[in-house]
Amino acid sequence: MKMKFHTRREFIKTTALAAASVSFAGPLASRARAADPDRKIGFALAGLGRLSTYQIAPALQKTKYCRLTGIVTGHPAKAEQWKSQYHIPDKNIYNYDNMETMADNPDIDIVYVVTPNALHAEHSIKAAKAGKHVLCEKPMEVSVEKCQQIIDACKQAGRQLAIGYRLHFEPNNLECARLAHEKVFGDLKMIDASFGFAIGDPTQWRLKRDLAGGGPLMDVGIYALQATRYLSGEEPILVSAIETKTDPVKFKEVEESIAWQMKFPSGVMAHCGTTYKFPGLDRFTAYAQSGWFELNPAYNYSGIRGHRSDGQPIQFPSIDQFAAEMDDFAQCILNNQPTKVPGEEGLRDVKIMMAVYEAARTGKTVSLV
Ligand code: NAD
Repeated sequence: MKMKFHTRREFIKTTALAAASVSFAGPLASRARAADPDRKIGFALAGLGRLSTYQIAPALQKTKYCRLTGIVTGHPAKAEQWKSQYHIPDKNIYNYDNMETMADNPDIDIVYVVTPNALHAEHSIKAAKAGKHVLCEKPMEVSVEKCQQIIDACKQAGRQLAIGYRLHFEPNNLECARLAHEKVFGDLKMIDASFGFAIGDPTQWRLKRDLAGGGPLMDVGIYALQATRYLSGEEPILVSAIETKTDPVKFKEVEESIAWQMKFPSGVMAHCGTTYKFPGLDRFTAYAQSGWFELNPAYNYSGIRGHRSDGQPIQFPSIDQFAAEMDDFAQCILNNQPTKVPGEEGLRDVKIMMAVYEAARTGKTVSLV
């Protein structure tokens, strides 16, 4: 058994792009081999907040097929700082009002939209209209209609659209999906999945409905929802939910904590939870006919690890998930192949999250078929 584990680990390590070599939906064509090694895809980051600063820009430096060529920001001081730190020429610095003028800039192939949730459509559509491919952070938007608008704009422009679902490239999550899909412990029966944290600054946009669209469900509960979908390989058909609020001042505009249940067509059930009130929720357990497997932590940038009921660890080395996600999308562009995390995937999550909110609001089970 140990040998087997090492063999899989070796496979992941030695494949040209570890995470891109295995997908939740099955093996992908080896994009790395087909890509021209000299061509690097130019990325412009729209929104230079925490994620761009501390994760995405450093990750871009580790990619094989990408380079940071441009920025979109509303803050001239940030533009100056990024310009000197990443050697970005003045002609590749944009603000949110002149993004469309990127159309005549060949240095930029992809715009990575990393702004607050309710601005994703505006910025993604501007990028698509400028003829750029779009990588849009999760949650894709704050309504199904706005998700559809992004999909339509990219289709109309003939450009690819991917959603920033970094865990689709994370080896431990991929391994759990394999255990489920290959029925290593028999048919999947039930999934427990939750992700939450204690949020700080009460003035931040994440607590404002018009910019966030919702609270922890939209922000991090989406990862637990994603886990149920990529483990089961199915779409939920029924949703029920309850919400609780102990601090109505801080959480005036969005939920504080929410728990929801889902039923999938095969009969798999899921129990999920998310919160902005307390730390510690970062896990899933999948129960199958003859055993279980789990990740805890499951959704972090690094240090993801887990166990199986037969005593084997699940412990693939951490990778830079953002670098893997961007390299994969770059290869999709270079080889004209579809992404495994398309806009439709983002829209499905938003549709389900809207059903979760409806179920919590009405106290009724919501059907998704
Ligand atoms: P942040 O607040 O640190 O950054 C947001 C950026 O958007 C800032 O630079 C801000 O100046 C800019 N912005 C533009 N217009 C704005 C407006 N009208 N109001 C407020 N800010 C405005 O947020 P973040 O943590 O970087 O999150 C950005 C996006 O990335 C969100 O959609 C979030 O869900 C997503 N995110 C994804 C992950 C992940 O693991 N994939 C992690 C964190 C955040």
